[in-house]
Amino acid sequence: MRLLLPVGLIATALAAAPVRFDGDKVLRVKLQDGKQANVIKDLAKTSQLDFWYPDATHQVAADMTVDFRINAKESQLVESALDQNQMHYEILIHDVQEEVEKQFDVKEDNPGRHSYAKYNNWNKIAAWTEKMVRKHPKMVSRIKIGTTVEDNPLYVLKVGGKDERRKAIFMDCGIHAREWIAPAFCQWFVYQATKTYGKNKIMTKLLDRMNFYVLPVFNVDGYIWSWTQNRMWRKNRSRNQNSKCIGTDLNRNFNVSWNCLPNTSDPCQEIYRGPAPESEKETKAVRDFIRSHLKSIKAYITFQSYSQMLLFPYGYTSELPANHEDLAKVAKIATDVLSTPYDTHYTYGPIASTIYPTSGSSLDWAYNLGIKHSFAFELRDKGRFGFLLPESQIKPTCKETMLAVKFIAKYILKHTS
Ligand SMILES: [Zn+2]
Repeated sequence: MRLLLPVGLIATALAAAPVRFDGDKVLRVKLQDGKQANVIKDLAKTSQLDFWYPDATHQVAADMTVDFRINAKESQLVESALDQNQMHYEILIHDVQEEVEKQFDVKEDNPGRHSYAKYNNWNKIAAWTEKMVRKHPKMVSRIKIGTTVEDNPLYVLKVGGKDERRKAIFMDCGIHAREWIAPAFCQWFVYQATKTYGKNKIMTKLLDRMNFYVLPVFNVDGYIWSWTQNRMWRKNRSRNQNSKCIGTDLNRNFNVSWNCLPNTSDPCQEIYRGPAPESEKETKAVRDFIRSHLKSIKAYITFQSYSQMLLFPYGYTSELPANHEDLAKVAKIATDVLSTPYDTHYTYGPIASTIYPTSGSSLDWAYNLGIKHSFAFELRDKGRFGFLLPESQIKPTCKETMLAVKFIAKYILKHTS
């Protein structure tokens, strides 16, 4: 007979211990037609599918390749349903918990220290922002642009010079908590910029003439939660009225065609848009900062994972932006350059047709505000590890991405007024 714990006790135990993923699998299903897409949608109603690609059930469409995590208890049921319908699938990850532990595959002599080759928790990143200012007082300054729901600071590092009139690029990383490679890139960018200034010709020229505003972690509360409680957390940590589900998807919360796509109104969804446009403190902070620097900001770049894509507007419509040809040209060259050191293949194009339609995204919002060069990177990989990209891939990912970002910055310096 099973021992039953009082509900209160279970709740406390759940709050204290991090979620484990023993025996959870990540499946990849190659859909052949609409009927198969419906099988997935039906499964999502009865089983807990955590969508990795695309990011929600309603995006699932014929001819798509779908990645999702399924817990150990339900995996047999789901796999036999796929078999019954003669659907083609592969198991990308056999045991998610094992992969969660294996992602820390870089060993450093001093494990307590901040390292560019490792994933750093929020405390280390916050201390690192301070250190960068101390080390490079002439080149780096730290701006607190707001606080989060849980009262953590949102820091932007300004890299470049004191002159506010220079052209600037705004970059953010980690709008979704579980995409750990993104904050790793923002840290790498600041590190490489300061380290190679005066040595690398292009970087020196860029920093002599431009400013970079870098928000290393956009969704700080969610990021902390993904370290301490649930590695698969995506949203922020705000409470929702009349729902036990926590969090808003910050990348559905911007005031641009907010709510124009279905299924973003349920607080229990991973793509919940929030109770109102720009309802979230994190969204407001970024909105206000970008608005107040709109004169100088010529490009907006947001870093996410995974898929290996370079995206530009729009997400909420299949219409193309006015400077679509220009954006496609920049994206083509940027992805070509990116592929040079490790032969990493990226695709590029407008969000809606390249990845899937989105509403309320920061990218579309920035574009419609007037930042005509707006890009979203979906960093490594293409799903072998997904959100659990091992640390041994941080450096190569950052190095190749850096080449693309430098190209975009050079382009902005030369071709925008
Ligand atoms: Zn994302």
